[in-house]
Amino acid sequence: MSALEEAVSVKPASQQRVSHWIAGKAVASKSGRSGVVWNPATGEAQASVDFASAEEVDEAVAAAKSAFPEWRATALSKRSEIMFRLRELIYAKRHTIAGFLTREHGKTFNDALGEVARGLENVEFACGIPQLLKGEYSEQASRGVDVYQIRQPLGVVAGITPFNFPAMVPMWMFANAIACGNTFVLKPSEKDPSVSLYLADLLKQAGVPDGVFNVVQGDRVAVERLLAHPDIKAISFVGSTPVARYIYETGTRNGKRVQALGGAKNHMVVLPDADLGMAADAAVSAAYGSAGERCMAISVVVAVGRIADPLIEAIRERIGKLRIGPGMETGNDMGPLITKEHRDRVASYVENATAEGAVVVEDGRKHAVREQNGFFLGPSLLDRVRPGMHCYDDEIFGPVLSVVRAETYDEAVHIINDHPMGNGTAIFTRDGGAARQFQFDIEVGMVGINVPIPVPVAYYSFGGWKASLFGDLHMYGPEGVQFYTRAKLVTSRWPDPSTSRVDLGFPQVR
Ligand code: NAD
Repeated sequence: MSALEEAVSVKPASQQRVSHWIAGKAVASKSGRSGVVWNPATGEAQASVDFASAEEVDEAVAAAKSAFPEWRATALSKRSEIMFRLRELIYAKRHTIAGFLTREHGKTFNDALGEVARGLENVEFACGIPQLLKGEYSEQASRGVDVYQIRQPLGVVAGITPFNFPAMVPMWMFANAIACGNTFVLKPSEKDPSVSLYLADLLKQAGVPDGVFNVVQGDRVAVERLLAHPDIKAISFVGSTPVARYIYETGTRNGKRVQALGGAKNHMVVLPDADLGMAADAAVSAAYGSAGERCMAISVVVAVGRIADPLIEAIRERIGKLRIGPGMETGNDMGPLITKEHRDRVASYVENATAEGAVVVEDGRKHAVREQNGFFLGPSLLDRVRPGMHCYDDEIFGPVLSVVRAETYDEAVHIINDHPMGNGTAIFTRDGGAARQFQFDIEVGMVGINVPIPVPVAYYSFGGWKASLFGDLHMYGPEGVQFYTRAKLVTSRWPDPSTSRVDLGFPQVR
């Protein structure tokens, strides 16, 4: 059986009803509230997801709180061993996990495997937790006095995640959080919730004690309770900018540590000297991969000078060759969008583009795939887009690529720096000096040089600038370890008691 067949043949245990995971077991919600989990490739409802009540969130937090003392006291090498086992289990089950992603998110099976692989990097990073949590020690900071810093876990922490990476983004969070000795409550997206329960079961199989990892399904009610709960010490959030801003403001007001990653509008600058074919390949791959539902998708090409016309032609030619259809069917490059509402919202930007003054070069609303029942939309290409148009200012989060024409490099940089969001960006050029200048000038958190989707590897940290991230610390990697621990400074001496005396002066280095 091929990997794809294996994934298709595994029915999610939660096919009918997706509920919570609390204290090491599946728990059915009693809230009486639920939502529909769609199959975006067919347009049919395939499951229902329970929405937690505030009391159910409290239950999950209580389970996490009672598991914390024992878990934080567990030896580092033991926690590392569990992470190694988890790594092996996720790797062994990657096709099954990818199957969940394709069924509920709609992304192609290959793309889903890529998501699992990039998430797994974070578990691999967390396997090194004994090394990562080494403190600092200064002998003889003063005569006979040593100073050292240790890092300790925070307690119960929560993760609230978006629909577009239902496996990877939770792994960005829980791998480090748990390895650092915290206990965790995950609130996944209600649009593709099943994989969270599958991961919870793998964590249990790996030896994560009951209560260390919990899942509450739900909507705003669950999020509000997590934001208000006095036992939640920190919240990691990934989602759209308005919600990220709200989570940051409310969580910090309630005394919590918060990192809230928001939306994006990622520009790819193409300088006149760039390799045309390579730039067009990159633009098409990064704009339409996962139907544009990636926070690091390229949504704007800034074509500088004379390259604009040939670049648009090269992009158009490649769009024509893309195969669009259900993610489970071998050979498709792009699947459907997450819901009908979202598909229609994305299409409305194409519909309004002409009235705003843009030129519709490719209209995804007219693509043959629209005849299928799923939430499909073909790829769209808009030319002569300018700041001030909705299709430029807003995050569309779908298969729509805009081209902004700039006369000069300086104009391109100004356009990007003026946009309120600053998640990722890229430059395509053969000029090393220009690329280095771009890296210096650009006000964006993650930069690709001839790399269209510069998602950092797990031993660096991920995060945008401006309205793409609220908080001080980026996610995962070394900054993730910092986020999930707090520093304690110890000043220590073991003097001969006979030398002791009263001294009311402020302690000075002697
Ligand atoms: P979303 O903001 O709608 O939802 C994210 C989470 O917040 C979900 O768990 C959802 O249930 C919850 N939520 C939604 N509305 C809420 C509200 N009013 N109050 C409280 N909680 C609420 O985002 P989405 O549509 O699931 O995901 C797509 C968005 O996420 C895009 O904007 C994308 O750019 C962004 N994203 C950003 C990154 C990043 O790293 N910066 C990564 C992935 C996705």
